[in-house]
Amino acid sequence: MFMFMTSEITLAISLGLASIIWVEIVRDLYHALAHIWSPIYRLHVWHHRVFRPDLTVANPEIYRQAHWYNDVPEAMVMIVASVLPWFLAKQLHWEYDWVGLSGSFYTLSFLLSAIARGFGVPRMDELTDLTHRPGPFAEIPGPWLVNRTYHWRHHFDNQNAYFCGILTLVDRFLGTAVSLKGKTIAVTGASGALGNSLLKQLHMAGAKPIALTSSNSPVVLDLPTGKISLETINWKVGAENELVNLLSRVDILVLNHGINVRRARNAQAIESSFEINSFSSWRLMEIFLSTVKTNRDIACKELWVNTSEAEVGPAISPLYELSKRTIGDLVTLRRLDAPCVVRKMILGPFKSKLNPVGVMTAPWVASAIVNLVQRDFRDVIVTINPLTYVLFPIREFFVSSYFRLTTRAD
Ligand SMILES: [Zn+2]
Ligand SMILES: [Zn+2]
Repeated sequence: MFMFMTSEITLAISLGLASIIWVEIVRDLYHALAHIWSPIYRLHVWHHRVFRPDLTVANPEIYRQAHWYNDVPEAMVMIVASVLPWFLAKQLHWEYDWVGLSGSFYTLSFLLSAIARGFGVPRMDELTDLTHRPGPFAEIPGPWLVNRTYHWRHHFDNQNAYFCGILTLVDRFLGTAVSLKGKTIAVTGASGALGNSLLKQLHMAGAKPIALTSSNSPVVLDLPTGKISLETINWKVGAENELVNLLSRVDILVLNHGINVRRARNAQAIESSFEINSFSSWRLMEIFLSTVKTNRDIACKELWVNTSEAEVGPAISPLYELSKRTIGDLVTLRRLDAPCVVRKMILGPFKSKLNPVGVMTAPWVASAIVNLVQRDFRDVIVTINPLTYVLFPIREFFVSSYFRLTTRAD
């Protein structure tokens, strides 16, 4: 009897939650549709006329009108769709089918607050319109829940991305959770196989890539439309400070340079492994993080670090593993309070100068990286080793928890 009760309650809670997630998915799909179908866009565009870049309201009259033209119709569509979970539960002749209407009551609260804002009820915007409040951003874009920083990008970074209102599921599914369009992206290790492929993929995703390399020749992309020469900056390990001005104008910095001394174990091999793989990356990371100053920087700047699969497994090269684990742990430590999004790229072996026997190819790995970033994976794992997909998140969880508990932000 007790078991029966427990499973009934679990089922009822699941149906209630599912009905709420369902209406949120409908809201976000309706919003995405509004940006490609002009009859709905004509209503939705009112929402885009309301705000200045600091999220203050440009015109209170337009702010009120926007609720009648955009928020109220959106909530009506959600209410109509919210009947579906209840209808399906009813078809199954389930006693608690009415729990399927949770999404309707949930949506009703949005409808009523939109109507109240439409009538200009005082303070209603402060209490109910949380993703459009002005002021400095206190958080980086939320990975699963839409916060002000996340939604700001829909208005002022790219209107054809960041469609979600509460949960980020639909953007993650559509690949619109991170837009690379128009972003200035600098990639180190640009002359290597992955660096070159990544620059090409970023270019094809609409970004403005910059190549950072220790080699003297300009980096060239071989595109289907012909070859193009990229803006190429020559830099040397140890001279990271010379890149301050460049990093101030860069939206996304990709740390991808590295060395693999393989079987060597002398003092020189230790020094160059740590200097190149760990400390030059760490210095660039600190310089880049110090350039995050404005609301736009907090919303749009990102740091991606290629820490490699060596963080959790052998690479048959001890000094490569040690130095890559060092930078991996430093990233885990510093991203506890980083002012912008910091991603790790956990890559399995691919064919390159460092590894002539890799199974995956650099172009394939690069396109997978871009695909996963657009779905806002903060840890971008691309490998053929299934163990990494299990071990890395467990290790990252425990190491970051340990660092969080035993250290403090200034
Ligand atoms: Zn908005
Ligand atoms: Zn929109």
